[in-house]
Amino acid sequence: MNDTLKLFSLNGRRALITGSGRGIGLALARGLAGAGAAVVINDRNEQKAAAVAAQLRDEGLNADIAVFDVTERAEVSAAIDAFEARIGAIDILVNNAGIQRRAPLETFSADDWNDLLRVNLDGAFHVSQAVARHMLPRGRGKIINICSVQGELARPGIAPYAATKGAIRMLTKGMCAEWAGSGIQANALAPGYFATDLNRALVDDPDFSDWLCKRTPAGRWGRVEELCGAAVFLASSASDFVNGQTLFVDGGLTSVV
Ligand code: NAP
Repeated sequence: MNDTLKLFSLNGRRALITGSGRGIGLALARGLAGAGAAVVINDRNEQKAAAVAAQLRDEGLNADIAVFDVTERAEVSAAIDAFEARIGAIDILVNNAGIQRRAPLETFSADDWNDLLRVNLDGAFHVSQAVARHMLPRGRGKIINICSVQGELARPGIAPYAATKGAIRMLTKGMCAEWAGSGIQANALAPGYFATDLNRALVDDPDFSDWLCKRTPAGRWGRVEELCGAAVFLASSASDFVNGQTLFVDGGLTSVV
């Protein structure tokens, strides 16, 4: 491997990806593992996490598990501390776990609002804090916060989701402000529209799909594997002087009107 390619290697690094039992999280776990990382699959359900990790190991990848609900602060902290003590250092954290709720803003329920904030924003705060407490004394670490084009652009029916993603963008800059001097790079990866369970209602709506393909310069939905190159870059030494940024992987969506 030449020197430049070595910058992108994740050999010898361990990456925890929250909400990696399916969807984008699982694709990112596979992508980071493919670049050499030992990955840690997180799910709330131990059997599901174990099955996904076993599947990755069957594919020749290095995978372990950490079971916790990102919204449960004490549970998160205990799981991260136990993992660091029992298995070893978490070098890379991907805050991916997320949910979507859709309704007009004027009738949006307080319960749905609270659920969105608890998973999409509080979850990233709890997990980042628990992991950073171990990264900071080591003087190195990579944090990738999964944001969204909705951190930049609003759309009717998902204002609260957009608010969580806008907040994640600013939390990323805050992490940079506070932790860059301790060798941590925190950046956000903002996907455009990818066909996952989270977007099932949109994928199944031909009118939306038609609108999206016309609205996106690339003319199509994204494929989850297409997020991996950006994730490997942000997880690797190739991005050691990149901090507090949001990298859009959206087929050009946020570049045009
Ligand atoms: P998804 O297919 O619905 O997967 C969401 C994942 O998050 C699942 O593994 C889910 O676990 C996990 N999760 C939810 N609540 C959790 C909690 N409290 N604790 C731990 N894990 C939890 O969604 P996705 O499309 O892959 O989305 C992943 C991330 O990308 C989200 O942050 C989302 O906002 C973002 N994103 C997605 C798109 C897109 O087009 N799909 C675009 C922009 C941004 P369970 O299986 O247990 O529910």
